[in-house]
Amino acid sequence: MTPDTDVLVAGGGPVGLYTAIRARLAGLRVVVVEPRSDAVDKACGEGLMPGALAALAAVGVDPAGMPIRGFRYADGRRSVEHRLRGRPGRGVRRTALSAALQQRAAELGVETVRARVDALTVEARGVAAAGVSASWLVGCDGLHSTVRRLAGLERPPGPGERFGLRRHFAVEPWTDLVEVHWGRSVEAYVTPVGPDLVGVAVLGPRGSGFDEALSQVPELAARLAGAEPATPVRGAGPLRQRTRARTAGRVLLAGDASGYVDALTGEGMRVGFAQAVAAVETILDGNPSRYEREWASRTRDFRLITGALVAAATSPVRRAIVPAAAALPSLYGGVVERLAR
Ligand SMILES: Cc1cc2nc3c(=O)[nH]c(=O)nc-3n(C[C@H](O)[C@H](O)[C@H](O)COP(=O)(O)OP(=O)(O)OC[C@H]3O[C@@H](n4cnc5c(N)ncnc54)[C@H](O)[C@@H]3O)c2cc1C
Repeated sequence: MTPDTDVLVAGGGPVGLYTAIRARLAGLRVVVVEPRSDAVDKACGEGLMPGALAALAAVGVDPAGMPIRGFRYADGRRSVEHRLRGRPGRGVRRTALSAALQQRAAELGVETVRARVDALTVEARGVAAAGVSASWLVGCDGLHSTVRRLAGLERPPGPGERFGLRRHFAVEPWTDLVEVHWGRSVEAYVTPVGPDLVGVAVLGPRGSGFDEALSQVPELAARLAGAEPATPVRGAGPLRQRTRARTAGRVLLAGDASGYVDALTGEGMRVGFAQAVAAVETILDGNPSRYEREWASRTRDFRLITGALVAAATSPVRRAIVPAAAALPSLYGGVVERLAR
């Protein structure tokens, strides 16, 4: 039987829509299955690194936001900043990013089915889910991926779970940097996302509350004193998600569904878009083993550098991170440049 479509994408988040757009631009027929309608919001720091912006520009997507010219680390006593040598990144509200990607996908003729994938049928020449049969399924259904579980690709989580929370404040941005404020047990990072809107994402162990986290970072709390919260607190986690493999026959995983380290370095979308490119190349090539290799190579920096930073942040070395970065600004700058590419 001929499949209904070439590619079925589970999940219409940024990586799912980006995969769909790339596949359509390569001439493939694409259906996205996403349960939520309208522009999708999510707990996110909302910093698009220059590499992520370039990936979006390559497919004709240019969401509005505020320029991000670098990163600043602060712990209340010391502070260090690095300004990006090349193009800036951008702080973009998730709803604006979602709307821009949805619009581009619709322009290109990507079909959307409002449903959840809750079962998979593996067929001789493809996969069927949510009532659609396809030659390939790309699971882009986020941190708690159903496709990952159904395809048998899950791995048990490791120790030391971390969670993320975010809230916006109606205040004029005071910086064009992403600021990471290191508290005793949490990091609070600030991204300007609009002329009168700043996002604050908090990362830390289970049970970290948003207000308690702010009380650990008095410099940031003072900046936000009197500013009106513009959105409710929204959470996500556990952040670390592990996978046994990224492919099972004609099922590929991309984005957070394929495994996630942590939000501390703010590059989930850059890495997810790179995976989407590799997934579409694999589909065109018809060789799933290519995807495993490409996935490993395109996520290497994220897994190694972010993994090492999180290991330090959750150990007694934590208190030395900002002093070390301040003492070695060129090393700090080198790491920022590497992750922003
Ligand atoms: C606190 C925090 C801060 C972050 N900060 C940054 C940052 O500054 N910069 C950055 O680049 N990244 C950041 N990230 C990471 C970034 O948010 C993710 O990497 C990114 O959202 C991954 O996109 P995705 O499309 O893979 O998954 P998601 O954005 O989670 O999208 C998944 C989609 O799948 C849908 N879905 C779920 N289940 C099903 C199902 N069964 N069937 C069909 N659809 C389904 C959902 O409705 C959703 O729309 C942060 C993350 C957190 C938690």
